[in-house]
Amino acid sequence: MPGRLLSLVRPAPASSANHDTLKANDIPQPLFPPVYSVERPTNTKAKSQESLVMEAFKRHSIGGRHHSDKKSPKVEPQGCATMNMEVESPPLVFYNSPQTSTGALFSGQLKIDVHEPFVTLEKFEMRLLAIVSTKKPVSPHCADCTTQTTEIHKWEFLKAPVSLRHGDHSFPFSHLLPGHLPATTHGALASLDYYLDAVATTSNNGNITYKRNLDIKRAIFPGNEKHSIRIFPPTNLTASVKLPPVIHPIGDFPIEMRLSGITQTKNDSQTRWRLRKLNWRIEETQKFVSPACPKHANKVGGEGKGVLHEDIRVIASEEVKHGWKTDFTEGNIDAEFRAACNMALKPLCDMESPNGMSVKHNLIIEMVVAEEWAPLKKLSQATPTGAARVLRTQFHLCLTERSGMGISWDEEQPPMYEDVPASPPTYVDDFDVAHLDDDDSGHLHL
Ligand SMILES: [Zn+2]
Repeated sequence: MPGRLLSLVRPAPASSANHDTLKANDIPQPLFPPVYSVERPTNTKAKSQESLVMEAFKRHSIGGRHHSDKKSPKVEPQGCATMNMEVESPPLVFYNSPQTSTGALFSGQLKIDVHEPFVTLEKFEMRLLAIVSTKKPVSPHCADCTTQTTEIHKWEFLKAPVSLRHGDHSFPFSHLLPGHLPATTHGALASLDYYLDAVATTSNNGNITYKRNLDIKRAIFPGNEKHSIRIFPPTNLTASVKLPPVIHPIGDFPIEMRLSGITQTKNDSQTRWRLRKLNWRIEETQKFVSPACPKHANKVGGEGKGVLHEDIRVIASEEVKHGWKTDFTEGNIDAEFRAACNMALKPLCDMESPNGMSVKHNLIIEMVVAEEWAPLKKLSQATPTGAARVLRTQFHLCLTERSGMGISWDEEQPPMYEDVPASPPTYVDDFDVAHLDDDDSGHLHL
């Protein structure tokens, strides 16, 4: 199905954007303006989306001597040092909506294990990148149309070159990931991934590198139950539905529904609706606005425009066979049933990003009602009139991760490295720890 053209508000060129000073209200749209392009991976068709992203990512990183070449997967010479990471903060979960979330604290230590007597580091930095990759690029096979990379944060560990002795060295880091960032999402139209890319450059121009995927989740705390009422003109039928405030990818949830106005009494007879069939399904709607790279902007009618794609799939459905009670005297049908997502279909959590990527869910309830007629004196002897109707209605469902025992970072705080002492740790020579985020951790980035 061809996508629909629509306009996007594009931000100023990346060179003029200073992400570090942006507050939540200043966020340009889309959320992820491309800051640089990624080379086209070879033979993209044969690769999964994940490996495609990783390959694009690897190709764009500052390679160095550890960069592996697929054609010669033989043992590489052991470098002068290796890098690893210990994450100290709990799994990254943003609690509540992008508008209200306080974000999640990410903290840990980068470890450099020096294998030689001394290694001099000229530069040591780590970047947190957001990579949006679409399966519906404006120009097929164009890497710049396919993938947009945005730097969310950058840590600079050194102010001046340092010499590290043989052995282990730790570099603490922390950052408050702003709660408005969309969660990691792997959809049918597009994927959003977060990666950490650390590079230490040695005095002889070697690179010690470390990469890691960061999985960001969002959990919206359940509020009150949702009550919704739907009417079905021209009948007198009214459906009143009680739904949970949030649902989860795993586990079932209750739905209560009352269909009222089913009985009409006239003179000496009664017409009434009998529920013949009750179905429900959960639809997942994914949307993505594929941006065009500057080279292919003419394909979508100019810069700042994109193509809207939509993908709808059913992630659960069932026919409710029984379990409803009919009361013709009161004129009500009461149904109670439990619904659940089909885990095998890997339902996505609700998300919305200003770059046009979104995931939403709807519960659709479908009822078939048949009309019957009975004389008041013999109400048990009803006759179908032949009239029947299909009643269809839908409700928004919020699909989100379970909040579990989750506590947001500002309620229970893991260690932060704002108070790193100015003096270097004793086991490091000539080492000067750069200030890690002390002055901007309260700001929202990007
Ligand atoms: Zn392009």
